[in-house]
Amino acid sequence: MDSVLAESIEKNGFLDIDVDPSMDLFSEVDKLRKEKNAIILAHYYQEPDIQDIADYIGDSLGLAEKAAETDADIIVFAGVHFMAETAKILNPSKKVLVPDMKAGCSLSDSCPPALFGAFKSKHPDHIVVSYINCSAGIKALSDIICTSSNARSIIDSLPADQKIIFAPDKNLGAYLNKVTGRNMVLWNGACMVHEIFSLEKITRLKQRHPDAKLIAHPECEDAVLQIADFIGSTTALLNYTKKDNSNTYIVATEAGILHKMIEASPHKTFIAAPPDNSCACNECPHMKRNTLEKIYNCLRYEQPELIMDEDLCLAARRPIDRMMEISRKAGLIA
Ligand code: SF4
Repeated sequence: MDSVLAESIEKNGFLDIDVDPSMDLFSEVDKLRKEKNAIILAHYYQEPDIQDIADYIGDSLGLAEKAAETDADIIVFAGVHFMAETAKILNPSKKVLVPDMKAGCSLSDSCPPALFGAFKSKHPDHIVVSYINCSAGIKALSDIICTSSNARSIIDSLPADQKIIFAPDKNLGAYLNKVTGRNMVLWNGACMVHEIFSLEKITRLKQRHPDAKLIAHPECEDAVLQIADFIGSTTALLNYTKKDNSNTYIVATEAGILHKMIEASPHKTFIAAPPDNSCACNECPHMKRNTLEKIYNCLRYEQPELIMDEDLCLAARRPIDRMMEISRKAGLIA
């Protein structure tokens, strides 16, 4: 790689190359995507412009499935680092480009593999079920991966007396303990975005909008989940708002999903659940590191590319395959 490009990536996490402001980025990205047989996968929490240019928009599970089945030569992953890793693990022959290598995840970072390995060794008779929002290092230390859509079925599929460690999200783990009646040992990790919602402000909003339904992601704290009308993965929340007959929703997850909700139900009102302070903390700062300019540069120069150790990929693949196998048996996927 050109040493100037390498230096820019090393320093910034992305290619810091000026883009002509008069350029029509939508058509240029589209041209490059076709020329290079590339696919752009974007998470629901990406900014609206990125969602609009993406070939596919989804949550972690949907994106993983798309990455696994694509026949494109290049995957541009507009999400965060662990999601791009999952794409590479599932489809290692593809070139996976990451617009900004520093787009991390507070939840994934809250579970470093070395510390988790030591924690796991203190519970030798437990198996490890990990939420897909974790690094490849944690996946490699896990027996089964789950997503917020299939976690309950995965846990229900295990023998009742099987001891389980759940990582990395303590809120999702506590919610799963409650709905499955298990007593899983929880790793003490959390997502900075889902932990910030203010119960007090949401309660006040509900009083002002008595007909509004509160819909929440299970990564939220228990106090918020307790007053929610519906709890589900990002895709489940979106689907709920399409089918449900209410007109107003208070949405307790990353605010980027509102773009798709409004697009699908333009006649309905969506209110982003307020955080515990006055900043825009209901937006994930990691997800929002990606921009159209970064996507254009990364497609043009085919950098930064995610390179992963082959053995790590293989070890991280096994628990994902277990998840797919159980999900198939439970009829959750074809
Ligand atoms: S919203 Fe939370 S879990 Fe999702 S990428 Fe951001 S920090 Fe990670």
